[in-house]
Order: sequence, then structure tokens, then C-alpha cells
Amino acid sequence: MARLEKNQKPISRVKCVVNTCEYYENGDHCLANEIEIQPPDAGDTEETDCATFCPKMN
Ligand code: SF4
Repeated sequence: MARLEKNQKPISRVKCVVNTCEYYENGDHCLANEIEIQPPDAGDTEETDCATFCPKMN
């Protein structure tokens, strides 16, 4: 079950290509109410990820 409410409108200024996420929408948009990126003190892009990610159910 999704942890956050899903919006009709995508978050502006966020491009996300994670098409296996419940909040992903075609066109590389994110429909989550808000997103949280983790962790603190990350050293590179590999280490940095979206903690709001939720696997798509289907
Ligand atoms: S919640 Fe995170 S991983 Fe999922 S679509 Fe939005 S930005 Fe991408």
C-alpha cells in the first residue's frame, strides 16, 4: 500500500525515471505529495536515493 497520497499533478522541477515506483507517471513525473531524499552526508549520486519510493503494485 502506498504510504503517501497520490496527486493528480506531478511535482514540478522533479524528473524521475524510476518507472517501477507507485508514484511514477509517464513522462518521468512524480505524483507523490512530497518526496524525501536520503541519506545525510552522501558522497555521490550512487549513495543518494529517494526514500519515498514505493514498489508499483501490479
Ligand atoms: S517517489 Fe521518488 S522514486 Fe517514486 S516517482 Fe517520486 S521521485 Fe521517483
